[in-house]
Amino acid sequence: MTAIILKAADAAARIKAGIAAEVGEARARGIRPRLGVVLVGEHGASGAYSRSKIRMGSELGVEVELSSLPADVSEAAVVAEVGRLSADPGTHGVMVELPLPPQVSLARVLAELDPAKDVDGTHLVNRGKLLRGDDEDALFPVTPLACLALLEEAGVSPEGRSVAVVGRGETVGLPLAVMLVKMSATVTVCHSRTADLAGVVSGAEIVFTAAGRAGLIVPSMLRPGQTVVDAGISVLPNGKIAGDVDPMAAEVVARLSPVPGGVGSLTSALIFRNLMKAVRLSERRTGAAVAWRPLPERGRLAGRRCAEGRPAGRRCEDGRYAGRRRTPLRRDAENRQGLQSMPRCLSP
Ligand code: NAP
Repeated sequence: MTAIILKAADAAARIKAGIAAEVGEARARGIRPRLGVVLVGEHGASGAYSRSKIRMGSELGVEVELSSLPADVSEAAVVAEVGRLSADPGTHGVMVELPLPPQVSLARVLAELDPAKDVDGTHLVNRGKLLRGDDEDALFPVTPLACLALLEEAGVSPEGRSVAVVGRGETVGLPLAVMLVKMSATVTVCHSRTADLAGVVSGAEIVFTAAGRAGLIVPSMLRPGQTVVDAGISVLPNGKIAGDVDPMAAEVVARLSPVPGGVGSLTSALIFRNLMKAVRLSERRTGAAVAWRPLPERGRLAGRRCAEGRPAGRRCEDGRYAGRRRTPLRRDAENRQGLQSMPRCLSP
């Protein structure tokens, strides 16, 4: 075998250690991170995925609330449950296990989800931010992030490289291709109508696969020196799990991620990493972050809402504006004490 096998265990352990430290810091600030998981019936591995999140949550100190609904539940009931979790200030992240039964539209369910709690990165607002390359206050989908984490683990940068992405699905291939373009890779996206799949795959320096077709990528399509990351998952007739890449590819390429033990082993940890980002977004929204951070000496960062609860930039009752960015230090007694817990109105 020539390939280095890109196992996820080390990266997963590192990501989880980082999350556990963040959870500890959040708890010290009085925040108990909580993830709401909505499971409708049990399709494929969806029940097992929910249970594994409960296990990982208890390992990391995160509460996981599982809303288990029957497979024949109405769409309205699923929408209502997602709405309840989205509106609950004590729940920082919400995700819906897929697939949903046919009577429940994912689009209608997602419309009820607060984008700032969308730890799966599927809401249209987060997809729009992904297209804009705006990750400041967005949550991105975890399977593409897991693919990139494995690449990073291998010490390979996509910048300036030719990359093939096999699969243009909404969950993996398409968002991954966008992320790679933003990382300055030159990306070719393949799908079921690609005329010369072998030609595109063999011409790329880095190959990602997310087709869900076991053994689609055979060794004859590959060449030495390539890095191959396989996100595909298929269940074989013998019950075993297989990726899109024939394991014999390890005899040809330089680096190959295994299935199982590769991309899929990182996704749950990345859901919790997104959850901790959602905690930070929630703190920023409510102004809680302002409450515990010391005032900087020469200025302060005004929050997104003023003391009357109006969004930044809007005129308040008395004709002043809520602050938007770094503003001059107010030289009043209250500010000197550093006690403000909410951003307040500032003169324009
Ligand atoms: P999807 O929406 O079904 O997309 C599959 C894509 O593969 C489509 O774009 C399809 O092309 C393409 N494709 C199918 N047959 C092909 C062929 N012979 N040659 C080239 N392209 C072909 O799937 P998805 O939801 O994005 O998921 C993709 C894979 O990732 C699945 O195996 C899924 O199980 C796996 N997955 C893994 C994880 C994880 O944690 N590891 C998480 C989520 C998904 P068309 O568009 O032309 O139909």
